[in-house]
Amino acid sequence: MKVDILAIGVHPDDVELSCSGTLLRHIDQGKTVGLLDLTRGELGSRGSAELRDVEAANSALKMGSIFRKNLCMADGFIQYSQENLLKIIEIIRWCQPEIVLCNAPDDRHPDHGRSSKLEADACFYAGF
Ligand SMILES: [Zn+2]
Repeated sequence: MKVDILAIGVHPDDVELSCSGTLLRHIDQGKTVGLLDLTRGELGSRGSAELRDVEAANSALKMGSIFRKNLCMADGFIQYSQENLLKIIEIIRWCQPEIVLCNAPDDRHPDHGRSSKLEADACFYAGF
């Protein structure tokens, strides 16, 4: 399942809020895109995890991404662990992206910053 771009977000709306314009532009140019959410956003104060699942699936379909996966890590408690690192590495090896878009390393939401290091290191280790 090779894609040109893999966009990773902690919460199911992170990709849409941070880089959907970039992704849509690349899809329009013929690039393939995959989406990876690390959590279901179950701690969100608006809506429910079930509603976010539906919204994320609809968004991926409308965007034209090749796939959207969710690793179901614990929202609010993202940890830098071997288990979480291996989950992301498995997806990166599976879809072999040329470009990976990740959460910013310094961000107001604690999950975003913690996941950024996890995502960057997963990119490095996926090459082994
Ligand atoms: Zn988020």
